[in-house]
Amino acid sequence: MDSPLFLPTTRAEMDRLGWPELDILLVSGDAYVDHPSFASALLGRWLVAHGWRVGIVAQPRWDSPQDVLRLGRPRLFAGVGAGALDSMLAHYTAFRKKRSDDAYTPGGRAGGRPNRASMVYTGLVKQAFPGLPVVLGGIEASLRRAAHYDFWGDSLRRSILLDSKADLLVYGMAERAVLEIVRRLAGQENLQGIPGTAYVSQAAPADCQNLPSYEDILADPKKLMAATLALEKQMLSCSWLAQAHAGRTVVFAPPAEHLTTPELDRLYGLPFTRQPHPSYRQTIPAVEMIKSSITAHRGCAGGCSFCALGLHQGRHIASRSRASLIQEVRGLARRADWDGALTDVGGPSANMWGARCSADPKACRRPSCLAPAICPHFQDDQEGLAALLRELRGLPGVKHLRVASGVRYDLALRSPAYARALIREFTGGQLKLAPEHYSAKVLALMRKPEFKHFERFLALFESESRAAGKEQFVVPYLMSAFPGCTEADMRALAQWLQSRGWQPKQAQCFIPAPGTVATAMFYTGIDPEGRPIAVARTDAQRARQHRILTQGWGRPERP
Ligand code: SF4
Repeated sequence: MDSPLFLPTTRAEMDRLGWPELDILLVSGDAYVDHPSFASALLGRWLVAHGWRVGIVAQPRWDSPQDVLRLGRPRLFAGVGAGALDSMLAHYTAFRKKRSDDAYTPGGRAGGRPNRASMVYTGLVKQAFPGLPVVLGGIEASLRRAAHYDFWGDSLRRSILLDSKADLLVYGMAERAVLEIVRRLAGQENLQGIPGTAYVSQAAPADCQNLPSYEDILADPKKLMAATLALEKQMLSCSWLAQAHAGRTVVFAPPAEHLTTPELDRLYGLPFTRQPHPSYRQTIPAVEMIKSSITAHRGCAGGCSFCALGLHQGRHIASRSRASLIQEVRGLARRADWDGALTDVGGPSANMWGARCSADPKACRRPSCLAPAICPHFQDDQEGLAALLRELRGLPGVKHLRVASGVRYDLALRSPAYARALIREFTGGQLKLAPEHYSAKVLALMRKPEFKHFERFLALFESESRAAGKEQFVVPYLMSAFPGCTEADMRALAQWLQSRGWQPKQAQCFIPAPGTVATAMFYTGIDPEGRPIAVARTDAQRARQHRILTQGWGRPERP
């Protein structure tokens, strides 16, 4: 089957392709941008490349199934995703105020998708096509796959698989799981037990680890910590887990195998136009950010306790080949709208391309490969990365290349050649780094490196920038009100900033996003070892910490 220029979004577009019906309908909370950073485009292209006919309904109206009905009933299933962000996180600030913009919607306007989009879209599909299997995926479904604390409702919620009434949930990166789902549906086989999915059953399979049930956690909130840590561990250990909810059991099959380098190369080599669908009349802010950037790898070994990636992409680093990245840049440089600026080559972190574990990750007991210190089994290839960046920059049509993904400075410090190349050649005036805090106690709870590593990197950054004759700055990302952080800890950070004469520009008040270990700390008031910690829980307490960081400049708060 020839690959269409865009996947169809209307009946007329299906007719032009000669497709009387779809095999799979994808419903997404983001606009349809045919770029590999958009999940519906990535999965849609992947399925088409494997011979399936896929259409996309992006940001449908949710007061009626009219938009979802537009392409007709698909033959096999509908895949539903809330978009690149959890819909509640996309809609509300750290203080539960409505956001006024949305980078994944034409015109950047808010309101392109409903709250709890996975559930609303599943209901629309069920209404439009009774009996059609609905498969949930994306970060919202991944992070809410088990009983979880929901900050916006300030309550413990059941697995989203039960609340949405979807038939199956894909967690993590979905390429392998969706191929198995279509294969089984096409052969009228049972969907249970596919790696990388969760399903509802009457009972847990044998040899399955039982998580504390939803009711157990309601009765004893501290049990959310044990459940969250087990889910996090499953991303490496590949065990089976189950969680009971009032007589029904959600079973979590082991994660899907990561794509191999040749598979990733094939995926990113599909014929993406990298453009928004031509029906859009307004620009989509996220497109401006990613249109000239390329993804070199997936996964992050950091395991930061507040990061959703740990429960979605996991810690395994899956890297594309040098040849595939070169091919993508050559393709970019041939485009009519190419201006010569490659704005990023990275992934969840900038400097983990080519990294791997030299031991058996399935036996790993550490929650992070990098904290509190870099694991002796963690093998990186930052010198190879520096060489790759230079090679990409040297390709015809490339005027300059910048690194915009977050750099792990603790890792960069162990490769002076990479650090020097990064600072001298690939930093565009500002380098974003995420020390997040100053307090050793808070950094340990975050699973971030000790602050001394940030100070060492900062000194290196300043000396290398001076030597290169470049005036450039570090922009530190900082967080207030993290579980375990007190006002005294915030003042210590504010005083350090003051000592450098820095006014924080990128300060975020901690948002307890569903599913993370940090959110379990927020909800339970204990750390992962079960020790009690102080938690700024009310909006007033959180706002006070945030003010110390953004305005306090280390001055004691008035009583
Ligand atoms: S053994 Fe070390 S490098 Fe391997 S997964 Fe565990 S922490 Fe990471």
